[in-house]
Amino acid sequence: MAKPKRVAIYVRISKDRKGQELGIQRQEKACRELCERLGWGVYRVYPENDVSASTTSKRKRPAYTEMMRDARDDLIDGIVVYSIDRLTRRITELTNFLEEQKEHGFAFATTEGEDTSSANGRMILTIKGAVAQQETERMSERINSSLLQRREKGKPHAGGPRVFGFEPGSNFQRVVPGEVELIRRGYEMLMGGEKTPGDVARLWTGAGAQTPGATAWTIQKVKRVYRSERVGGIVTYKGQDIGDSVYPHPLNRVEWENIQTVLDERATPAAQGSGKRKHVYSGFLKCGNCQSKMRVQWATVQGRTFRRTLCHSGQVGKDGQLGCGKVSRSYTWIEERLDEVIEAAIRRRQPQAQAAPTEDLTGAISVLEERIRGLQGRWKNGQMEDEDYFDSLKHLRAELTALGAREAAQAVRRSRTTADALTVWLDKDAENLERRRAIVASVIKEVAVFSVGRGRRKPPEIDSIKVTPLGDESQTAEN
Ligand SMILES: [Zn+2]
Repeated sequence: MAKPKRVAIYVRISKDRKGQELGIQRQEKACRELCERLGWGVYRVYPENDVSASTTSKRKRPAYTEMMRDARDDLIDGIVVYSIDRLTRRITELTNFLEEQKEHGFAFATTEGEDTSSANGRMILTIKGAVAQQETERMSERINSSLLQRREKGKPHAGGPRVFGFEPGSNFQRVVPGEVELIRRGYEMLMGGEKTPGDVARLWTGAGAQTPGATAWTIQKVKRVYRSERVGGIVTYKGQDIGDSVYPHPLNRVEWENIQTVLDERATPAAQGSGKRKHVYSGFLKCGNCQSKMRVQWATVQGRTFRRTLCHSGQVGKDGQLGCGKVSRSYTWIEERLDEVIEAAIRRRQPQAQAAPTEDLTGAISVLEERIRGLQGRWKNGQMEDEDYFDSLKHLRAELTALGAREAAQAVRRSRTTADALTVWLDKDAENLERRRAIVASVIKEVAVFSVGRGRRKPPEIDSIKVTPLGDESQTAEN
């Protein structure tokens, strides 16, 4: 075998030997001396300035990468290192290195005596290669049979306490459809922005759902359900998010992340409406005759219970005025007319709200997801050490989570603006009253109510009420 004339000297400092750090200069000097002894010509030195040691991944070693590329391109015909552990301490990388050496036929030697130009050197490398190979196989065997591999395939950890939504004893592989339905309904409630985990607890209790511990639903227990990664089908390993479960789960990843955002926002207690009022338009109605605030109350006449609104002549109203007592109307008719006004106003607003600028993060998110899948593939094939993998994964996941949170925040904002105002408006549940009143207050300032006389059978004329829209105070109802 001809003596190599273009030898690469690869030097790398490492902090993994305490107090024995071998300076790059000393490594280089020893390597040059070896080349001289062997009669090899030095092409150039590839110094790795990165101090990180054995557990760093390939991409963090630019000099090594460059050197191997030069070997493939035949720019170099030999490699010399101080010792094998300067070259690599990763068995998989050593295996790759030996394969490259076989393929491209470059010479290799270390100052510790491993050179492929002597029988002894070749034998040592062969043994090391065999060990490396065995180690590689053992590792991939280990990964193949391990939980890690199972998780990598989207199979979540089977142990741990039962989580609401999953069938007991099914190892989180089957869901309980009724519980999934409740989780999803709770999700919609919380995403709406006004309902609280307490409301969800009441819903679930009312539906007869059991907590995993067969105790009463509390705010904390509801939150725990939504905080569980399992509910979002997210598979974890050692606290790391490593992919999506292949089994059914109540929420998808995006929904799960949305709900995290909502729960995070809830961490600060929001002032809740008192909920004392019972009628959507009470406070908005004023007497068309005397301008005082009208009251809304339940009345029972001849066994029939109905709501009416009246100008009260026997009692000073909230505005400090005594009413004229001349106007008393069915509230239901007024409510129906005003509902139409409000709904129309919400519908008019919608296109405007949707035109509000939002960031499109889907591209950036899919790029990151693609990178994570690539990473997972390399790890699965044994091309990465666990630490490298988790390190990189953690980093990418953090980026993804940040983007996801931004996207979720947008989704939450969108769901809370006009797009969902209509949904809120049309949901006439008593618990929704304060939200609906807030919508009314954003549309109308006040409504003048005129008398239509008592005992009429014919429906009132439309102009028996006069709506003053918000920001249009010139047209007060006096005429
Ligand atoms: Zn009046």
